[in-house]
Amino acid sequence: MSNYCVIGSGISGATIANLLSKKNSVHIYDKARGPGGRCSFKRLNKSKGFDHGAQYISPKTIQFKKFIEKLCKKKILKRWGGKHIYLNKIKKQNKNHIKIIGRKSNNDISKYLIKNIKCNFQSELEKIEFINNKWKLDFKNSQTKYYDKLILTCPFPQLKKLTKKFIKDSFIKHKIKMDTNITVMIETKKNNINASSYLFNDKILGWAAKENSKKRFQSKNDLWTLQSTSLWANKKINKNRENKEKNSKILIDQFFKLIGIKKTKIFFSLNHGWKYSSNSKPLKVKSYWNTKLNLGVCADWFVGPRVEAGWISANDLFRKINK
Ligand SMILES: Cc1cc2nc3c(=O)[nH]c(=O)nc-3n(C[C@H](O)[C@H](O)[C@H](O)COP(=O)(O)OP(=O)(O)OC[C@H]3O[C@@H](n4cnc5c(N)ncnc54)[C@H](O)[C@@H]3O)c2cc1C
Repeated sequence: MSNYCVIGSGISGATIANLLSKKNSVHIYDKARGPGGRCSFKRLNKSKGFDHGAQYISPKTIQFKKFIEKLCKKKILKRWGGKHIYLNKIKKQNKNHIKIIGRKSNNDISKYLIKNIKCNFQSELEKIEFINNKWKLDFKNSQTKYYDKLILTCPFPQLKKLTKKFIKDSFIKHKIKMDTNITVMIETKKNNINASSYLFNDKILGWAAKENSKKRFQSKNDLWTLQSTSLWANKKINKNRENKEKNSKILIDQFFKLIGIKKTKIFFSLNHGWKYSSNSKPLKVKSYWNTKLNLGVCADWFVGPRVEAGWISANDLFRKINK
């Protein structure tokens, strides 16, 4: 039985930790306050909140479809119904495209996969060293831990910073560009908008989702998650912290303009900047495993910019470890 440290509790980290935990001791560390990574949920109160990262899952491969079906049967996930309005004339709409969401929130998959694994949140890994065949891990909160085997699932720029001394494979030399996203969550006076989501064809606003339509809670007001295009966010992200109010206003005004209704009273608005949202070009390899160093990497960016990509990468790493 080996002892593994997995960094990250997004779909990649939760999947590999779950697979490894069947025969090994596994601990997870994540710098965030809770699980899910880019599938995380911003909670307003006990029942209400916003999926402010990944919006839904639309499985493509047979293996992932089976996995998602299993979680739907277990009532962890469900179908997101209602009217999804497709205004993007550039991308052809796939009418068979189903939208799967968490029953309570989109980090439900991570929560389910790691429910029996020890997780340490608010623990940001800062430095790694390989000493006497063990990984010495220094965390920002002044903790130092030792593990036999280390698995990292960070977005590419963060991974490169941590591991460039140890990983010599060609993929680490790539300049994998990750797009950004600016997401605004708003609570507005109830409107008679009969839509669950909008996919726009606009330079600023990419997508809007009505959280109420997910039927997770009852609310007398409307809750909307507005996500920018990456084109717009890439220009704004570096100064988004200073310009939160201004950028939120731009996205909110654009939302009301595009759906063609008068701007209604906004009770609450929150802006979240995603510095590493997604990459568009997949790599030739799906994961990385170094038997001599007992060092592994899996993440969505190996395979593509979606939740399914993280799951595929984690399963690929698990196969490599067990070869
Ligand atoms: C705005 C937005 C919308 C999206 N919409 C969709 C969608 O509709 N459908 C879809 O399929 N995909 C969508 N995606 C993409 C999807 O969210 C990702 O592909 C997927 O969640 C990536 O999972 P991951 O586990 O590989 O990485 P992450 O979820 O990023 O997990 C990495 C984890 O590592 C942690 N971490 C990083 N560095 C450290 C460190 N040094 N120490 C400790 N912890 C660390 C992070 O906190 C994080 O929890 C969207 C993404 C964004 C940002």
